[in-house]
Amino acid sequence: MYMGIVVQKFGGTSVADKDKLLNVCNHIIKEYNSNNKVVVVVSAQGKTTDMLVQEEKEISENPDKREHDVLLSTGEQITISKLAMYLKKLGYDAISYTGWQVPIITDNIYGNANIIDINTDNILKQLENDKIVVVAGFQGITKLGDITTLGRGGSDTTAVALAAYLKADKLYIYTDVDGVYTEDPNINPKAMKYNTISYDKMIEMAKNGAKVLHTKCVEMAKKYNVPIIVKSTFVENDGTIVK
Ligand code: ADP
Ligand code: ASP
Ligand code: MG
Repeated sequence: MYMGIVVQKFGGTSVADKDKLLNVCNHIIKEYNSNNKVVVVVSAQGKTTDMLVQEEKEISENPDKREHDVLLSTGEQITISKLAMYLKKLGYDAISYTGWQVPIITDNIYGNANIIDINTDNILKQLENDKIVVVAGFQGITKLGDITTLGRGGSDTTAVALAAYLKADKLYIYTDVDGVYTEDPNINPKAMKYNTISYDKMIEMAKNGAKVLHTKCVEMAKKYNVPIIVKSTFVENDGTIVK
């Protein structure tokens, strides 16, 4: 019995090393074995993107905008290939896609591009063949064929956009905290967790620096009416629903 399309997004800390990638595989396999079609979005491993920014600074304080995106987008490609390999090793057929292979079409605002269209044909074909589809977050391609990135933290936006265009039944953003709190729980341990939070309140918090969700991702979720379930990759509990 076919249940539906589930999109799961895992951030940098969640995919940081071999053991963490295997832990992510468990989350994916659980959804897949519940008869769902699974699309996974991943970020670059650990601090990879920060390191790329650092290396870029050694070349120029004012780097070429096009090449900046070519460089910063590389981290996610490493994660998708490794994750697909681990899934295959565990006996689950997976296939990776970069943003441009999907393709995820964006405008040409390098470093802070906006998704303007997604052609879902390739992904849907793979899902029909029962494959787990692993997509690189944070990246897309312009109509003229140039690589773009969506702004720091932009993998969240890739996940929401895919959920919207695929008309997914569920969207999970897995991260290193177990939900959205009144304040950053890593700074204020007394912060309280929301069970649910509105799109507008979440947009306001994201704009004020709550990086648990990328501002553009919440704006897009509101536009397409996609509920976001924010959960911990590392502890099992209900998390927060943004709706
Ligand atoms: P990921 O790599 O999974 O995308 P991020 O580092 O981008 O994770 O976002 C998760 C982090 O957001 C948490 O570790 C936490 O420190 C921070 N954060 C800031 N504000 C909040 C908040 N209000 N609620 C939860 N987490 C928050
Ligand atoms: N890897 C990118 C960043 O560090 C995108 C993301 O993590 O969402 O900003
Ligand atoms: Mg993030």
